Amino acid sequence: MESEILPFVNPATGAKFGEVKMTSPESVQNAVQEMRQSFPLWSGKSVRERIRILRKFQTLLIDRREEITTILNQDCGKSRQDGLIELFVTVDMLAQYCARAPKWLKKKRVSSGLYLFKQCFVEYRPYGVVAVIAPWNYPLVLALPPVLAALLAGNTVVLKPSEVTAATGVLIERLIQAVPELAPFVRVVHGDGKVGAALTQAKPDYIFVTGSTPTGKKVLQAASEHLIPVALELGGKDAMLVLEDADLEAAARWGVWGAFFNTGQTCMAIERVYVVESKYDEFVRRAIDYANEFKTGYTPEADGPYSMGPVTDPRQVQVIERHLEEALAKGARVVTGGKEQGMFYNPMIMVDVDHSMRIMQEETFGPVMPIMKVKDEAEAIKLANDNRFGLGASVWSQNIAHAKQVADQVQAASVIINDSIAQFGIPMLPFGGIKDSGFGRTHGQEGLMQFTRPYSYAVGSAPVKWDIATLLRENGRYDLATAILGVVYGTTLRQKWETLSQLFRKKTTAKPIDRNLTSQI
Ligand code: NAD
Repeated sequence: MESEILPFVNPATGAKFGEVKMTSPESVQNAVQEMRQSFPLWSGKSVRERIRILRKFQTLLIDRREEITTILNQDCGKSRQDGLIELFVTVDMLAQYCARAPKWLKKKRVSSGLYLFKQCFVEYRPYGVVAVIAPWNYPLVLALPPVLAALLAGNTVVLKPSEVTAATGVLIERLIQAVPELAPFVRVVHGDGKVGAALTQAKPDYIFVTGSTPTGKKVLQAASEHLIPVALELGGKDAMLVLEDADLEAAARWGVWGAFFNTGQTCMAIERVYVVESKYDEFVRRAIDYANEFKTGYTPEADGPYSMGPVTDPRQVQVIERHLEEALAKGARVVTGGKEQGMFYNPMIMVDVDHSMRIMQEETFGPVMPIMKVKDEAEAIKLANDNRFGLGASVWSQNIAHAKQVADQVQAASVIINDSIAQFGIPMLPFGGIKDSGFGRTHGQEGLMQFTRPYSYAVGSAPVKWDIATLLRENGRYDLATAILGVVYGTTLRQKWETLSQLFRKKTTAKPIDRNLTSQI
């Protein structure tokens, strides 16, 4: 059946360069089963041993860089150098995780509280089988890092790459198979949303999804059936705020870069810009100049003159066109750029936009930078927050402390001051969203530890008679417990003294009170 085949099509040329068979629902089930069976062997290896094996994979990634950037270039239409950036961030993250994982994953001793004669520990144990579902916009760096983090934590993994960039999915499968010590612990299943749905229904122990908000909601719903924990890395509509004292030259240059890098197909791309009134005209002028410097095109060569390739997914062209048409009909203007041919655009700067337009509210995921004039920074913050997404934000001011104060008022999970989109490329910064951008985190210590569940244990000899905690187990200790509560946790001297003196007072007066009560009854 034709629908069972996923063709590899270069979006820049339209040329077919391969294909892969979609994985059947039964094979998806089998993949999860297989990974469940191999889990004890992988999780039984020490962290150091897992690192030794993952370092072999790191070596392989660097050895095979030409093949990797060639496939990314064909699969997405992005430049080889942009493909190399994906590889760079992947390797950087793996190297930093390998350096820190032994410390992070180590068993920790914690306070035993009132149980003075026990020792208490927390171990960080893997979940079991982790499902990773990946998107097409960065098919390497949004697929491999969660796979590698999950492995490092001791899980086995089933990866489902995007159907739009299936060639990269096959490449990842080949790379994993090329490390024999790693191959038994990862499976790659190929296909569209139906295959993704089959994977969630195969009851993995943890699901990590990067994709659109509607997909995130579907996965969450499916996972709730079996109470499977889910991390959702979803869409965005990141705002850039240009304040009164911003370095306009740098803001325009790097704002334009953040809007058009990867043809705007970046979850934390600059999708809307708010510039204070006094700086608006100059910012727009400079942004147009920088956008005009972007060369659009495609070459399979390692070094080329192009900073922007085509839109990768034909379905995305429809979204971009819908947003453009509606904005233009409502009075917006494109002051530079526009459709070139096929799936290629020249970077578009749009002005005269307002918040009734989709282009300011929904994720466009394309090469458009809408810029809006605002009265002051208070209005910029208000408008930045008038959106259902909350992934990242970019704030520009030469007064960094002030920029941070403004950033703190923007509803986003991460912010970058005087730069754009780069926070994702810093492996030790946890990255994710709030609001409709989801609630997962990738990168940073949190990005690794999410693939573990804390396992607690307390050890010691049988309860010791005079241990405070043991004393409290016996009946007739109400007054003693009150005194301990006050003395240990009382927040004022009065409270400590009152509870303690009450213990002694009651001791001496308890009998007469009891007698009185009895006679009344
Ligand atoms: P998508 O939601 O269409 O697909 C993402 C993945 O989910 C694909 O592999 C797809 O096959 C799979 N899928 C679809 N339906 C499914 C279902 N019912 N069950 C399980 N899996 C299913 O997203 P996309 O178009 O591939 O990627 C672009 C989106 O991803 C954008 O919204 C972008 O902002 C977002 N994104 C977010 C981040 C982040 O870190 N927050 C990073 C990159 C991209």
